[in-house]
Amino acid sequence: MPTRLTTLSRLPLSPCAAALGLLAFACDAGGSGSTGTGGARVPEDSATGGAAKPDRTGGTGDDAQLPPRDIVHTELALDLTARRGRATVTLARGTGPALFEVGDLRVEAVRTPDGETLPFTRPAPARLLVSAPTARTRLVFEYGFSKHGQFNGWDATPGLTFLWPAFCGNLFPCHSDPADGTTFTLSVGGVPDGQTAVYPREIPAPAPAYQIGLAVGDYAYTRLGETAAGTEIGLYTPPDGLETARTGAASLVGHFDWLETTVGPYLFGSKAASVSVDWGPGDFGGLEHHPYWHIDDGQMGDANTHAHEAAHGWFGGGVRIACWEDLVLSEGTVTYLAARAIEAVDGPEAGAAQWAQYEHDLGELVEGGDDTPAWLPETCNAIDLTTHPLWSLVTYYKGALFLRAVEETVGRGSLDAALAAFYRRHGGKAAARMQDLLDTLEAETGFDPGPLATRWLRETGLPAE
Ligand SMILES: [Zn+2]
Repeated sequence: MPTRLTTLSRLPLSPCAAALGLLAFACDAGGSGSTGTGGARVPEDSATGGAAKPDRTGGTGDDAQLPPRDIVHTELALDLTARRGRATVTLARGTGPALFEVGDLRVEAVRTPDGETLPFTRPAPARLLVSAPTARTRLVFEYGFSKHGQFNGWDATPGLTFLWPAFCGNLFPCHSDPADGTTFTLSVGGVPDGQTAVYPREIPAPAPAYQIGLAVGDYAYTRLGETAAGTEIGLYTPPDGLETARTGAASLVGHFDWLETTVGPYLFGSKAASVSVDWGPGDFGGLEHHPYWHIDDGQMGDANTHAHEAAHGWFGGGVRIACWEDLVLSEGTVTYLAARAIEAVDGPEAGAAQWAQYEHDLGELVEGGDDTPAWLPETCNAIDLTTHPLWSLVTYYKGALFLRAVEETVGRGSLDAALAAFYRRHGGKAAARMQDLLDTLEAETGFDPGPLATRWLRETGLPAE
C-alpha cells in the first residue's frame, strides 16, 4: 500500500474528492485514510442512508419492529440512458410486509411476477413498504433512478456505480445491511455508442448489496491467465491504461490462485477481473465488486491494490460481515491475505516489504493521532460507518497485524487451516462477526487469540512487542 495515499487522509478536498477519499479508502486497499464527511450524501433522508441500521430490514427505527424479510435474489435490469430500472426481488420468507431502502428512486409500481399491482407506501423518504398480504416471495419494482455525483449511486459522468457502504437504494430497492446476502443477475441497456459496460451478468453466491458494480467506458478486456482451479483472470482497461495495469497485475493470477488454494474455492464465477475506473483526482484504492472489482486508475499499477481487492472475494464478499462494527473481519483479513499472497508468489523480500509498508503506515497514522480501536463488538450496525473513526486504514493494518501475531504463535499452516475452516463455514452462508473468527481460531488451533485481539483490536495505540 503506497504511503502517498495516507498523506491524503485529512486534506480538505473538494466535496467530490473528499467523498471519494472517504469512501474509497475504506473499502479498498490503498485508500487515503480519512475522517472527512463531505459530500457522501444521498438526497432526502441521507442520514439514514448511512450504515446505522437497527434491524435487518433496513429500517429506520420507526419501523424496526417489522419482521426481517431478507432479500435472497435480485434480478436487475437497468437502462442507463433512460435511467430506468426494473428489479425483481426474491424475499427469503413469503409472508408479512417487506421494507426496502429505495434512496431517491422514483418507484412507479410494485407488482407480482403475474402482473398484479401491489400497494406500497413510503414510511420515510428513502424507505418503501410493501404490505404484501399473502405468500408472495417475488416482487417486481418499476422505477426511475437519478444521477449521483458524490459517490453514492449511479455517476453518469465517469460512468460508474458507487454503492459502498449503504447507497444501494439509490440504484435499486435493497437492504444495505452487510449481513444480507443476495445473489444477483444484471442486464444493462442504454449504453452510449462506442462505450462498453463492464458488469457481471450474474453474482451466483450470496453477496452484500454493495457488491454489485458497473462501469462504462472505452474498455477493452485483456486475459491474464487462468488459475489451477480454472478461474480466468483479466483486466478491463481503457487502451492507454493497459500497460500500467499489466504491471500492477503482473502477479494477479498467482495471487488469486494462492487464495483459492489456501482459503477455498472462489464463489463468484469462473472469470474475475480488475476494472480500471476514474474516480477523479488523487490515487485512491478500489472497491470489491466481485467478480469485476473496481480500482482507481491511479492505483492500477499497484500490486497490493489488485491483491487486496481480489482477496475481498473471500472476506467482505464471500464471508459477509454481520455488522459494520466487524469491518476488521473484512478489511483486516484482506490486508493480511494480500501480504501473504504477495509473499507466496513474489517472494519473501516482496512479502517483507509489504509488511514493512503496513507497519510504517500504521505507525504514521497512530503517531499522527489518527488512531482507533479496530473492532467494536458491543454493538451491531449502531454506527454510521461513513462518519465513524472505525473507517480508517488503522482498522485495516491492525487487523492484518493481529492475524500475523496469531500466525507467529500458532504457525502458518495452522492459521491457514483455521482460515480455510472459517471460510468453509461462512463463505456464501450466514454472515459472521469478528468474534466468530476468534472462536474458530481457538477451536482449530487450540490457542485463545482473545488477549491478542484485545491488544491489537480493542485498544488504541500499538501493542508493545
Ligand atoms: Zn478493502
